Amino acid sequence: MNESMPYVKILVDNRAAPGLVAEHGFAAWIEAGGKKILFDCGQGAALRPNSERTACDIVHADLWVLSHGHYDHTGASDYVLERNPEIQVYAHHGIFRERYSLHPEQPPKEISMPSEQRLVVANLPDSQLHWVREPLQVAEGVWASGPIPRNHPLEDTGGPFYLDSEGHDADAIPDDQALWIETPRGLLVICGCCHSGLINTLDYARRMSGFDKVWGIIGGFHLKHASEERLTATAAALKEIAPDFITPCHCTGDAAIEYLKETLSIPVESGFAGYVVD
Ligand SMILES: [Zn+2]
Ligand SMILES: [Zn+2]
Repeated sequence: MNESMPYVKILVDNRAAPGLVAEHGFAAWIEAGGKKILFDCGQGAALRPNSERTACDIVHADLWVLSHGHYDHTGASDYVLERNPEIQVYAHHGIFRERYSLHPEQPPKEISMPSEQRLVVANLPDSQLHWVREPLQVAEGVWASGPIPRNHPLEDTGGPFYLDSEGHDADAIPDDQALWIETPRGLLVICGCCHSGLINTLDYARRMSGFDKVWGIIGGFHLKHASEERLTATAAALKEIAPDFITPCHCTGDAAIEYLKETLSIPVESGFAGYVVD
């Protein structure tokens, strides 16, 4: 566990503080366990200006955790590795898969990690690229979850995701992972898109860490297409877990955020690029 509290700043999000760039994507800067950690890198255009303007220069990051292989979390990989060629990378080996989202009446949308971004990461030496298969401590008291068991009957990946453009092969997004930080006030859980489901993710983080108390939750919760039943179950789980705060952002969905604000008595505040927790 860490004796001191972590510092977290959202670097890329769908919303941004004045002077920062917004884009559909997510990235966060984390200082914990004596390390500077980059979590994801957004879609591509926002990371550079936002990191420069918030004095979170990527050159100072010790390590980089990728939550999963969607374009909106991996799109600035070339910039990260250009700025910091020595950075240690932690991800699941499934991040390079080709994948699509399929909406009725619309052409298939490829949402894979862009090929040029895949190349720069795949070409890293083994000593720098760490595949996460199970919870892995990346800094003192900071854990990359690895694959998260999908136990809850109402939770799914949150979208029409497939491994092929025809929609034959559903994509379970097995590479989805979260980060948890053990703090004196409980766990701080940081999600990318939370395709594993928020309840599944929190259950796993608590079970594997041995921490019952969750201090806070930050990230995309991917509840945009969630059924009313699922939203109700999510709110009930959050009431029971009783974190001190929740910062939903990125892909959570405005209606889901409003619902959580109305239903929960704890502070629920939408995140944005420039938002800080410390
Ligand atoms: Zn996303
Ligand atoms: Zn995603």
